[in-house]
Amino acid sequence: MAIGWAAMSTPSIGVLAVQGDFREHLAALTRLGAEAVSVRRPSEIDSLDGLILPGGESTTIDRLSRVFDLREPIQTAIAGGLPVYGSCAGMIMLADTIVDPHRGQQTFGGLDITVRRNAFGRQVSSFESDLEVNGLPEEGGPYRAVFIRAPWVEQLGDDVETLATVDYDGETRIVAVRQDNLMATSFHPEITGDDRIHEHFISIVTAAAR
Ligand code: GLN
Repeated sequence: MAIGWAAMSTPSIGVLAVQGDFREHLAALTRLGAEAVSVRRPSEIDSLDGLILPGGESTTIDRLSRVFDLREPIQTAIAGGLPVYGSCAGMIMLADTIVDPHRGQQTFGGLDITVRRNAFGRQVSSFESDLEVNGLPEEGGPYRAVFIRAPWVEQLGDDVETLATVDYDGETRIVAVRQDNLMATSFHPEITGDDRIHEHFISIVTAAAR
């Protein structure tokens, strides 16, 4: 194991499994030796050490979370300091504010950022880029990030640290952030097989559990 959490009992990390690519996140967590838990019911949140909000479609994740009565327990967990990592649509779900929400769209919030959905163009907007990501181990080199109709962070509060940016259309855009126990990326580390982002999140989870 590359990170030093052998002394702690295996962290139990949930993945919100109502829509999107939750299976890929569960697989990454399992590869890293964490206990990976599919979350579809409110009762499944209580015993978690951390939670991942996957990529997918944020309007659908929002709607289904409300249908399954998951919205309030997740908001309570975030407010209580549960480490949460959101990728792509999950970043949108963690954001306090969306610039261009779909009608009626809500987020869980907690992360003091404003995001723009589908920011890198609309359908023809998937691309890959090699990023320097703060906090990742240097071995392995730059992080190959896959963006799929991704949001970017348009504004961020004083307590939010930028972990990575990408140069796009002559501008530098923020694509990874952290605020205490909350982390979010515009890109999809779950589909590349480079598990350093998940490893980093597990280190946040184990530090919070101490
Ligand atoms: N565009 C999607 C949204 O607004 C996010 C895309 C993704 O998660 N790959 O939710």
